[in-house]
Amino acid sequence: MYATMARMAKIWEKAYFKDKLVPIGEAQVSVASSAVLYGLSVYTVFPICVTAKGIAAFRLKDHFRRLVLSARIIGIDTFEKEWDYVRFEKATVELIKANKIKEDVFVRATVHVDELVPGTRSRGMHTSLSIFIYEAKPIVPQDGARLKTSVWRRIPDYAIPSRAKVNGAYVNSVLAKQDAIDSGYDDCIFLDVAGHVCELSAANIFLVRDGVLITPGLESDILEGINRRTVLEIARDANIPSIERVVDMTELYVADEIFACGTSAFIAPVKEVDGRMIGGGIMGPLTSKIRKFHDDVMHGRNEAYQNLLTPVV
Ligand code: PMP
Repeated sequence: MYATMARMAKIWEKAYFKDKLVPIGEAQVSVASSAVLYGLSVYTVFPICVTAKGIAAFRLKDHFRRLVLSARIIGIDTFEKEWDYVRFEKATVELIKANKIKEDVFVRATVHVDELVPGTRSRGMHTSLSIFIYEAKPIVPQDGARLKTSVWRRIPDYAIPSRAKVNGAYVNSVLAKQDAIDSGYDDCIFLDVAGHVCELSAANIFLVRDGVLITPGLESDILEGINRRTVLEIARDANIPSIERVVDMTELYVADEIFACGTSAFIAPVKEVDGRMIGGGIMGPLTSKIRKFHDDVMHGRNEAYQNLLTPVV
């Protein structure tokens, strides 16, 4: 392991950078690059899961596609010309094998704009892809998270698009998450500029009212979460009614159940919002059902969803 300090996630020794495997300490972009100067990188994080048939990546194609689309939205046009899914899968497999992965882990893939001092623009610039592996540690407690609506609003689509997973925009998440922690909570709930619910600092949100699963729609300045989509597919297949629509902040206070979902949040039940207890403070039946379903899907225990897993080893 590279880093073992208490608050740091463990990072595996070998990384993929500039078309080859290198020690993680050698995977570096310049202080003069746009990636560092302007946060001009796009990224994704996907899980690697242990299944009965071996090690597999969950929804790898969807993650690659979101990475490509994030770059496209920002105007980073060189990545798409150089990388296709086949090459990306090959690099991922090579990295997982080289690190001899035998447990669930997270993989972070980032497209860095690494031209030096080019000024604030995006087109025609050199990019490098980095991929590294770190421990699958959840970002919110799994036994009932306590959330606070943030004083910081979610950056609207017309300022920095939420559907593009662009590194620089995560300063918005850092502000809101830190504010929540400083106030004694586990994470934040972002509202949009009109005061409607968006998501957590790095996870989507669902609530349950009268047996119906509700989540803010794609027009609500959210990241198009891959697990959000998985939850909606699970709901459809499990005959749980679901709806994507605008959610008022106070609907959270009267919800029967709330949960967060995302690669790094898994499916995390929420027990408190702004000092108000949700669903008696215990995990509700729909959250519990979806959580188990989702975990089974990710770990290859549901035959009908095998197509979402890419065998790696
Ligand atoms: N919203 C934000 C802001 C995020 O950073 C994440 C994590 N990628 C999510 C939602 C959840 O997305 P996913 O299910 O693709 O991990």
